Amino acid sequence: MMDAEVAVIGIGTIGSMTMWQLARRGVKVIGFEQFGTGHDRSAAGGESRIFRTAYLEGSEYVPMLHEARKQWRELEKETGYSLLHLNGGLMIGPAEGDTIRSVMKSIETHGLEHEYLEYDEAQKRYPQHKLFPGEVMVLDKQAGFIRPEFAVVSAVQRSEALGAVIHRYTQVESIEPDGDGVRIVANGKTYKVGQVVITTGPYTKKLLPEQASPLVTRRLVMSFFATTKPEMYTPDKFPIFIRRSKHFDISGKPTLEGTMVKVMLNQGYDEVDDPHNLNRHIAIDDLNQINEAVRELLPDLIADPIRLNAYMDAYSPDEHAIIGRLPDMPRAIALYGFSGHGFKLAPAMGRIAADLVVDGGTPFSIEQFSPERIRSGR
Ligand SMILES: Cc1cc2nc3c(=O)[nH]c(=O)nc-3n(C[C@H](O)[C@H](O)[C@H](O)COP(=O)(O)OP(=O)(O)OC[C@H]3O[C@@H](n4cnc5c(N)ncnc54)[C@H](O)[C@@H]3O)c2cc1C
Repeated sequence: MMDAEVAVIGIGTIGSMTMWQLARRGVKVIGFEQFGTGHDRSAAGGESRIFRTAYLEGSEYVPMLHEARKQWRELEKETGYSLLHLNGGLMIGPAEGDTIRSVMKSIETHGLEHEYLEYDEAQKRYPQHKLFPGEVMVLDKQAGFIRPEFAVVSAVQRSEALGAVIHRYTQVESIEPDGDGVRIVANGKTYKVGQVVITTGPYTKKLLPEQASPLVTRRLVMSFFATTKPEMYTPDKFPIFIRRSKHFDISGKPTLEGTMVKVMLNQGYDEVDDPHNLNRHIAIDDLNQINEAVRELLPDLIADPIRLNAYMDAYSPDEHAIIGRLPDMPRAIALYGFSGHGFKLAPAMGRIAADLVVDGGTPFSIEQFSPERIRSGR
């Protein structure tokens, strides 16, 4: 006797959207979350996440990003909440650098709405950024930010309204193939389901030490800086940005609070051995790089952060997620290792998970994300 057709393990960013997408297709789904829903002990949190479409990580993401935008709007429609705010996005770097080149490749391949701003024009339109000679900006019109905690909570609420059941404060200890289904042990109790979707993010290696062994969990620190000119940093005047200049690799967003700007380094600060013991203490020495970036690149900000938060994400060796059925457990579908850029994609990932569960395949091209590539070192 099955407890449900499908179980989703880990109701964070991707798991909450997977629950919603399964529930709206009428699938009997149960979810397990070790904490409460919308918590801040993992990858989601800290007020905002960037959404962008002109993707420097690869133009092959663009169809999934279009789908994500559509699904964010559908979630907004179904819940009545505002989640995705498209105030534009600036990609900033040397005209001939890899960042601008790959952003332009996404734009040209998919005909995306944009503006290319040469140095003088860019400096005039967006004086908040101090450019180096030879730098340009590309304005991605389909970019902006999402509210992460609220997005997770909204998808959870909606899926419960559609009949999904979520076991909160319930940690999954093991999953194993069991005849025509999968056996799950959680908080000491056994469940049986037809298929399982694993969306355990930074904690995946604890649940699947062998399959997820190539993943590394990294700590990411968000820093908020006060500005001397708050009127210049409102969402309508200050698009989200990604900047790769000299040795700096940073991103930033306006804050909803209004007198601060959020800026963070795009690479992880350090490896997290045990995600249950994420080091939330941020040492003064950890801030040298971000303070230097703010001093050099964003002259209207005061280069001492006034608010700091630590989160974490699971990184795969090639920094692309792992999506697909696990080779040694074909009733298990993996969606993890989003490597610092998965939030914007979440509702599209939920749709892909539901496609795989219900239809056995998806129209989106996910071959490059296969779990096999990680194990075979492709
Ligand atoms: C500081 C920071 C800034 C970022 N900025 C951006 C951005 O601007 N734009 C963007 O697109 N992406 C961004 N990202 C990346 C994005 O947030 C992540 O890729 C995404 O949130 C990962 O989602 P996830 O579902 O894999 O993990 P999570 O959201 O962490 O979800 C995993 C869930 O599984 C639960 N869980 C784990 N193990 C178990 C278990 N055994 N039993 C029950 N529950 C379990 C956890 O408690 C958690 O709720 C950022 C990440 C960080 C950390």
